[in-house]
Amino acid sequence: MRGDKHLLLDVNVIVDTWLGLGSEEITEKILDLSRADQVKLWLSASSIPTIEYVAKRSFKQRGVPPDEVQTLVSGLMTDLFQCVDILTNYGFDQKGIYSSAKDFEDAQIAASIRSLHGASVCIVSEDEEFDALGEVPVFNPAQALAWITSSDTAKGSIPFIDLAAQQHRILPNIEKNIATVLRHGQYIMGPEIKQLEEKLATYTGAQHCITVASGTEALLISLMALGIGPGVEVITPPFTFVATAEVIVLLGATPVFVDVEPDTCNIDPSKIKAAITDKTKAIIPVSLYGQPADMDEINAVAAKHGLPVIEDACQSFGATYKGRKSCNVSTVGCTSFFPSKPLGCYGDGGAIFTSDDALAQACREIRVHGQSKRYVHTRIGVGGRFDTIQAAVLLAKLEQFEWEIKQRIKIGAQYNQLMDQHGIQRVQQRPDRTGVFAQYTVLVDNRDELQKRLTEGVSSSSFTLPPSPLSIPTAVHYPIPLNEQPAYKTLCKGAETPVAAALAQRVISLPMHAYLATDQQIAISTTVAGAGVIK
Ligand SMILES: *Cc1c(COP(=O)(O)O)cnc(C)c1O
Repeated sequence: MRGDKHLLLDVNVIVDTWLGLGSEEITEKILDLSRADQVKLWLSASSIPTIEYVAKRSFKQRGVPPDEVQTLVSGLMTDLFQCVDILTNYGFDQKGIYSSAKDFEDAQIAASIRSLHGASVCIVSEDEEFDALGEVPVFNPAQALAWITSSDTAKGSIPFIDLAAQQHRILPNIEKNIATVLRHGQYIMGPEIKQLEEKLATYTGAQHCITVASGTEALLISLMALGIGPGVEVITPPFTFVATAEVIVLLGATPVFVDVEPDTCNIDPSKIKAAITDKTKAIIPVSLYGQPADMDEINAVAAKHGLPVIEDACQSFGATYKGRKSCNVSTVGCTSFFPSKPLGCYGDGGAIFTSDDALAQACREIRVHGQSKRYVHTRIGVGGRFDTIQAAVLLAKLEQFEWEIKQRIKIGAQYNQLMDQHGIQRVQQRPDRTGVFAQYTVLVDNRDELQKRLTEGVSSSSFTLPPSPLSIPTAVHYPIPLNEQPAYKTLCKGAETPVAAALAQRVISLPMHAYLATDQQIAISTTVAGAGVIK
């Protein structure tokens, strides 16, 4: 979808179109753009009975036989619902809105806009006097069409991750699913948890999915289920988010850091063998930036030594490795539903995947205090459940997840092309797997300076799109390898990791999400190039 533009249609726009009055050709074009996913159309729930009433009355006045009017209007409504979604306006200060309104119907329509807080919205109406309570612009159909087709990338800044664009697109389903949980009230381990676990297991192809409180909890519970504890060693890369090593240390075990590959930033499988000792009890590769590591090579060396492999797939849900889904490419896969991850909820969350029945059972028990039956604790566990409301959010998000993953892969490939054109070094992807670009990361030598310039906004003569400097948010994943972190320095083992140390100095991540438009990508890459990247 181009950008994130939303139109809320007034009653008269719909009815006039049905009756062939006024701007019906333009409105038809707008409806077509919605069918082509170029714009998002909404109706206020309050408008629906009014549309029905006015349309029936008008058709009757035009001499349509009364027994045909119902069928006619029902058919038109059904067609309409193919390209509009319904906005409700519950939950807001209703009395406040109506006590100051001049026109209650207009007020109700305008109030429903508040559900789309922060989006680019206009109301489309044939009524020049429409009272939008000063909240959003009111356009007639011709003005609205011009607004949709205008490009205004230049305005404002580009979000690093655009959760709002996604939410605006799927709002009715999110609200419906959350409301369902509020009605049944099973906030802990409600029916949505099981539904989600089944859907996610099917999606990955793993036999079992155990949802948990976070990605960190997923890693912790998996290691507990595998019996990791004091005195043992776990092999993992140092170039990752701290949680990967944190859970090892929490259990009293020692992280043994193995260096990463300079191009993919994932663990270098050829260096694992040398790190294995009698004490090694597991390997945790990380699918960094959303791209699985060399799982065949890692699994092979692990199998030789009888070691389980836990994929830290916290950034890679939706990715594939040689046709298999991330989370289902080793003994266990752990993912995170932190809001900014490829599949994110509206809070903390995570999941464990495995096809090992005994391990799945152990994880399920550890998740609820090591409980095998109510108040019978056969193991040491944690309070690590996922919330039902968050599962409900994910069920709504899953409906378009495949589309989002396709978008991410497409946007990532476009970024690659643009960076290559500008000669900017980037993280590489292997052809036998897909990465989902949890981050889009490039490598530069003047990172601090570049980051500062991008935040402040850069004007470049080769870059005419934004009239004002474009401010680009960036992030660094990650600035310090874990074996150099104050708390870990003395706790870890492993050989030198010069590749990780060098990468930590040079990586910088750019805005990336499934709703990033091509012209925004061009603006970003041109701006980065124009900011004087030292390669
Ligand atoms: C996000 C992340 C985690 C932790 O996930 P949470 O849900 O935030 O606990 C662990 N490992 C990696 C690589 C991550 O990116």
